[in-house]
Amino acid sequence: MKIVARQSRIKIIAFACLLAIVLTGGGIIPKTSPVCAQVSTEKIDFDVVNRIKDEELQHSQVMDTLGYLTDVIGPRVTGSPGLKRAQQYVIERMREWGITNPHPEAWRFGRGWSLEGFTANMTAPTFSLLIAYSKGWSPSTDGPVRGEVVFFDVGTEADLQKYRGKLSHKIVLLFPEREVAPNFLPQTQRTSDEDLRKLSEAKPASTEQQNFQLSPERRARIELNYKKWQMLLDEGAAVVVEPGFGDAGTVYVTSATIPTTLDTPEDARVRPWHTSKPRIIPQVVVAAEQYNRMIRILRRGLPVQMEVNINARFYDDDPMSHNIIGEIPGTDLKDEVVMVGGCLDSWHTGTGATDNAAGAAVAMEVMRLIKSLGLKPRRTIRLGLWSAEEQGAFGSRAYVAEHFGRPGAFKPEYEKFSGYFNLDYGTGRIRGVYLQGNEAVRPIFAAWLAPFKDMGAETLTINGIYSTDHNSFDVIGLPGFQFLRDFMENNPRTAHTNMDVYDHVFADDLKQSAVIATAFIYQAAMRDEKLPRKLQNLRSR
Ligand SMILES: [Zn+2]
Repeated sequence: MKIVARQSRIKIIAFACLLAIVLTGGGIIPKTSPVCAQVSTEKIDFDVVNRIKDEELQHSQVMDTLGYLTDVIGPRVTGSPGLKRAQQYVIERMREWGITNPHPEAWRFGRGWSLEGFTANMTAPTFSLLIAYSKGWSPSTDGPVRGEVVFFDVGTEADLQKYRGKLSHKIVLLFPEREVAPNFLPQTQRTSDEDLRKLSEAKPASTEQQNFQLSPERRARIELNYKKWQMLLDEGAAVVVEPGFGDAGTVYVTSATIPTTLDTPEDARVRPWHTSKPRIIPQVVVAAEQYNRMIRILRRGLPVQMEVNINARFYDDDPMSHNIIGEIPGTDLKDEVVMVGGCLDSWHTGTGATDNAAGAAVAMEVMRLIKSLGLKPRRTIRLGLWSAEEQGAFGSRAYVAEHFGRPGAFKPEYEKFSGYFNLDYGTGRIRGVYLQGNEAVRPIFAAWLAPFKDMGAETLTINGIYSTDHNSFDVIGLPGFQFLRDFMENNPRTAHTNMDVYDHVFADDLKQSAVIATAFIYQAAMRDEKLPRKLQNLRSR
C-alpha cells in the first residue's frame, strides 16, 4: 500500500515525565521533576518516504554489496588483508555512487593476523575429520603436531599438581564435555509481539540493576581457569583444544586466550593483537559433539590421538587500522552532521555476513539511496564504517575521540553533531529503536516511525543496547542509537561462528532496514533542530 499524502505534519504529544538525576557531593540523588508534556511537531515528507521505498524495493543493491563483502572478500579480521580489501571496495563503491571524499582515517590498533592454512583431525581410535578452527591471533603450531591428547581434568586447585610435567608439547583438551541439549525452539525467530510490548513498556534501569556482580562460584571458576591457562603456558603445551559453543556443525570462535587475573582492569589487560607480541599458546576450537566424543573415549581409559597444524600469519609492519568515511554534504546546515554506520570488520571462521556485512551493506545503501534520489539534506550526512568493533569497538572509539574529544575536553565538532545511527545485530528487520535512556527523542522517533507501521517497525524502548559502535558516541553524551532488529538467526547460530555466511542473510529484511534507516537519517538531516541530548549530558555541557 502506498502512502499518498504528499507533505503532512504528525503531531505526537508525549507525556514523558523524565527522571532528572542530580549529582551532589559524589552521591546520586534521583529526583523526579515535571519535565512533562513534551510536544513534538515533526515534519514528515511522505513523498520522499515513497521514493525511498520505491527505489529500494525495485532497484536495491544491498545484496550485491553484501555478496561481494562476504563471498568474494570473505573474512575481514582487523589488521588482515581481508579487511583492507573490503575497505578498498567500499571506497570504490562510494566513488561510483558519487559520495563525496570517501577516505580511510587511520588510528593505532596493533598487530594484524590471518589464517593461511589449518588441519585438525582425530587420528585414533578412528580417523575423524573435525569441524574445527584456530582461534583468532593464535600463533602457528611448530609444523604438524601429532600424538596422544591429554585431558586436563581439573575440578579443584589441588588437581592442578597431577599435571605437572605432563603437558609439555602435548595437545591438551582444556574442558570436560559441553552438554548439547535438545533445542525445541524454532531455529529462526522474529522478535515476538509480547517481547516488543515488554520492550516498549520498559522503565529506565536503576543503579542497582546496572551494578552487575559475579557470584562467588563463578568467580572461583574463572580464577581456576586462569591458573589452568597459566600452567599450560608455563609447561609449554603444543596446542590447547576447547569445545565450541553452538551445535549441529556450528562453532563459535573468537580470539585466543591470554591468561589474565580477574581483577586486572579492562584497559590493563594484555591482548593477543598487542605489539608487545605476548606469548600465546596455539589454540583450536572443535565442534562440541566431536569434542565430547574424544572426552568420552578418554573417560573409558582409552587413548585418543589427534593431529593439528595451524598456519597463521601476523602483520607487524603497520600497527595502524582504518575507519572508512564518506559524505553527502549538507546545504544550509552543512556544518552540522548526522552519521550512519556499522562495523566492517568480522571474525575469521565464516564470512562475517550477519555480523556485520549486513549492517555495513545497509549503511552503504543509505548513502546510495540518498544520493541516487538526488535528495538535498540540510545537514551533512556522513557514513562511518568502523574497524576493530569485535575487539572492543576500538575503531569507533578512536574516531569519536579524534573528532569529538572527551568529557572535559570536547572539540568544536561536539556541538555540531546531531546523532549517530548504528546498524548491527544481524539480518533482522528493523522493529524500532533503542532510545538508549534518552526520553527526549521518543516523540521525534515515534513520528519518524509512523510511516513504517506496515513494515513492522513501531517499537520504541527506553532500554539501551551495548557492545557495539553507537555506544562510543553515547558514552560521551552524543545521541547514538542502534535500531531494534529481529534477532533472527543471530547469536549463537550465526554471529561469531563458521556459519555466519551469505545464506543466513535475508534480502527482504535488509531492504526493509535500508528503507527505514534512510528515512531516519534523512529526517535527522532535515529537521530544524539537532537531536536532543540526554538530560545528564546537557548538564555537563
Ligand atoms: Zn560481533
